[in-house]
Amino acid sequence: MPSLNRDKARRAAAHPDRPGEQCRGEPTRYAPVIDRGRCEGKGDCVEVCPYDVFEVGRLDDADFARLGVLGKLKALAHRRRTAYTPRADACQACGMCVVACPEQAIRLTER
Ligand code: SF4
Ligand code: SF4
Repeated sequence: MPSLNRDKARRAAAHPDRPGEQCRGEPTRYAPVIDRGRCEGKGDCVEVCPYDVFEVGRLDDADFARLGVLGKLKALAHRRRTAYTPRADACQACGMCVVACPEQAIRLTER
């Protein structure tokens, strides 16, 4: 399981396109949303999030069923690994996950 990676987190923090509120977002106001068709479950988001929002696990059956044919093939190729956000309420909108995700699978949304 990936855990916080200080080098990756530093790079994400310095990224010029980092969206959000620089970690000053009020908890529960923002949340990351993951595009299941893009996520490959390798966990860069887990490695950079300072608030431990993400967890990589098995793509559940309902999310798998919603994918198109190509998405299903891609998910199977990645052993149905994907990121979930069990602690989304802790997000403070630092935007680091958005710029760290190699698949551009994360959007930071205002709830
Ligand atoms: S960094 Fe992006 S592709 Fe990787 S597990 Fe997280 S959401 Fe998925
Ligand atoms: S924007 Fe939210 S979910 Fe993404 S890394 Fe920052 S605190 Fe974590």
